Amino acid sequence: MAYTVEQEIKRRRTFAIISHPDAGKTTLTEKFLLYGGQINLAGSVKGKATARHAVSDWMEIEKERGISVTSSVLQFEYDGYCINILDTPGHQDFSEDTYRTLMAADSAVMVIDASKGVEAQTRKLFKVCVMRHIPIFTFINKMDRDANDTFELLDDIENELGIATVPVNWPIGSGKEFKGVYDRNERTVRMFSDTQKGTKQGEERILSIDDPALKEEIGDEKYEQLMEELELLDGAGAEFNQDLVTKGELSPVFFGSALTNFGVETFLEHFLKMTYSPLPRMSDAGEISPFSEDFSAFVFKIQANMNKAHRDRVAFLRICSGTFDATKEYTHVQGGRKSKLSAPQQMMADERKIVDKAYAGDIIGVFDPGLYSIGDTFTSAKKTFKFEGIPTFAPEHFARVRQIDTMKRKQFMKGITQIAQEGAIQIFQEYNTGMEEIIVGVVGVLQFDVLKYRLNNEYNVEIGLENLPYEHIRWIEGDYDINKISGTSDMKKIKDLKDRPLLLFVNSWSVGMVQDRNEGLVLSEFGRD
Ligand code: GDP
Repeated sequence: MAYTVEQEIKRRRTFAIISHPDAGKTTLTEKFLLYGGQINLAGSVKGKATARHAVSDWMEIEKERGISVTSSVLQFEYDGYCINILDTPGHQDFSEDTYRTLMAADSAVMVIDASKGVEAQTRKLFKVCVMRHIPIFTFINKMDRDANDTFELLDDIENELGIATVPVNWPIGSGKEFKGVYDRNERTVRMFSDTQKGTKQGEERILSIDDPALKEEIGDEKYEQLMEELELLDGAGAEFNQDLVTKGELSPVFFGSALTNFGVETFLEHFLKMTYSPLPRMSDAGEISPFSEDFSAFVFKIQANMNKAHRDRVAFLRICSGTFDATKEYTHVQGGRKSKLSAPQQMMADERKIVDKAYAGDIIGVFDPGLYSIGDTFTSAKKTFKFEGIPTFAPEHFARVRQIDTMKRKQFMKGITQIAQEGAIQIFQEYNTGMEEIIVGVVGVLQFDVLKYRLNNEYNVEIGLENLPYEHIRWIEGDYDINKISGTSDMKKIKDLKDRPLLLFVNSWSVGMVQDRNEGLVLSEFGRD
């Protein structure tokens, strides 16, 4: 079917999928592809050990470690929609890229393990979603296992994350007794059939809540329990409000089991209706409409090739307006140059393919000749503009870098600065020490290994790292004089390469204490240009 440009943009949905490792993000993504008809047999796309590497085989470390260091993007079609899923690495050693991926998404799907509730990594990623005010949808997964009490799960989300919830459907039983979900809007129950452990699309039978067959099928006890729970819910729970959902203040909640496919398709259907096609994005020339004639995009991630033989980099662009056409030239605003974007590529299910056209909402990877930086804007507009910058996210691990061969000072500085520019690490200096003492901050500890490996492999420089006990970093908003700050014994004053002052803390309670002690001091978890 041929779509107009406007239709192409309107049918796009671009979302990130976030969770704590093992909550079922990969499995759920596979099932989306299954329902999208992209794959025949779920599990054939992203089996953890094999397929993820097929998508991002640029990084040797990734192969060695068998975990995904980088985030990947997948596109698939469902019911006339064109959907872009931004995957956020699930391993604990995630990086700043994981946060930045959320800058490219228009909404987020949060996958929660029904027997665990909100976990650490979800909490971290959630903060970024809140900062961006994007809609957040909750999929409570693994209902085929014994789950926590449903009301407790909702309380946990509200208390831990501070967002109101509204269940769109409600589970009937859990574990072996997970029979189906009740759709509150339609007042119907979807009963699930065997999906042979999720390898085929299950049959879903829909029964009205008033249908006597329902009581017969789930038994008197479960039926009574369901009625009680629904009454409680109607009495005490929040009502669905699309406006609040859109602002990211109310999270619609769904229950299901990605493994057995239960509840996946109904989630997808509701989700697509409750989210929007790409919305305008802020730039220094005001809001840019996705339907603008001009193409525009920004870089949200740069991935260096770890393979020495191909030392190229790929820049990932989120298209914000218009159509990308591979034959046309675009202005790289920060670089002040116009050129074609070479080797544009997109991930489709399990393969990378070269694209010649893409639309607002899409993500493309393009060859980076070493000139692009995170946050850069590309556009076809004659009067160029820049999209709002991408904030710097707080690293949680810090180390002092020691150069083993001090003769290679120049290479060392070049390497470490370039790697920092790509956004894998952040570098800082202590006051009064000069460039001899560099402190590196990373979001996930694996980045220390990546830094060591890359400096050695690409710049021929060997380093040693001395871990520092700091875990919290804060940017200082406004012009507060750093010399005037009265600190705590575990606090350290540092600056970044642009000479902006920052504070490091060992303990989180010290952050609050310093804030209290210094009137007018505003500390932030995000750094902005
Ligand atoms: P990720 O780390 O969040 O991407 O999690 P995965 O999708 O890799 O899932 C982690 C483990 O949980 C795997 O062994 C999955 O088979 C299993 N799993 C995922 N979804 C479900 C589910 O709905 N029910 C059950 N019982 N297991 C699941």
